[in-house]
Amino acid sequence: MSFVVAIDGPAGTGKGTVTKIISQRMNLLNIDTGAMYRSVTLECIRKNISPKDEEKIKEVLENINIELKYIDGEQRIFLNGEDVSKAIRTPEVDNLVAVFAALKIVRDKLTPIQRKIGEKNDVIMEGRDIGTVVFPNADVKIYLDCSLEERARRRYNQNLKKGINESYEEVLDSIKKRHKLETEREIAPFIKADDAITVDSTSMTIEEVADKIEKIIRGKKND
Ligand code: C5P
Repeated sequence: MSFVVAIDGPAGTGKGTVTKIISQRMNLLNIDTGAMYRSVTLECIRKNISPKDEEKIKEVLENINIELKYIDGEQRIFLNGEDVSKAIRTPEVDNLVAVFAALKIVRDKLTPIQRKIGEKNDVIMEGRDIGTVVFPNADVKIYLDCSLEERARRRYNQNLKKGINESYEEVLDSIKKRHKLETEREIAPFIKADDAITVDSTSMTIEEVADKIEKIIRGKKND
């Protein structure tokens, strides 16, 4: 039996960074499920496919190949053989991903892929529905929270470093819209699992958050 840590939380909580730190400290495979939804979205944007065109999206999903690879300790995502790790993190993808991720055909394609990886490996898997839908029996479930303003501030600063020119208000608006779509969708809505442990990162450093979550995981491992 594999060991599964589920980390769910909204955009901008530092989930990705924290998950990476813990995966290295605890030798768990780091799976970023958001990157998978982003890759599908990117492919549809590139092919000019509207989220309403289910026929065309179905075609894309039938032919898509998404792979997570680890190069020099960094997780990279490959879409049909191309490294799209950077291309999936643009404001354009940010603004459309929650629309594509709400579609049943998209979730029906990605959820089984995520389950398969977690069944075969000890993983720390991050997303929105890991503890509720993908692995409702996960060994550890964390709900990583953070205030909306702080999340927008962090994302804004990340963007600045990447050379992405979006105002704080635009980032805040994009995060708000995404959150609404994710929490109100019919399939796999983003909600806290009843048995998840909440960690609020609003006034904590990344290291402090990682330490706290690591402690929780070690505690569960020794149960
Ligand atoms: O985690 P990240 O912000 O990169 O995720 C991108 C988007 O993918 C989210 O806004 C959400 O709409 C979708 N997602 C999802 N279920 C997951 C992971 C991500 O719907 N398990």
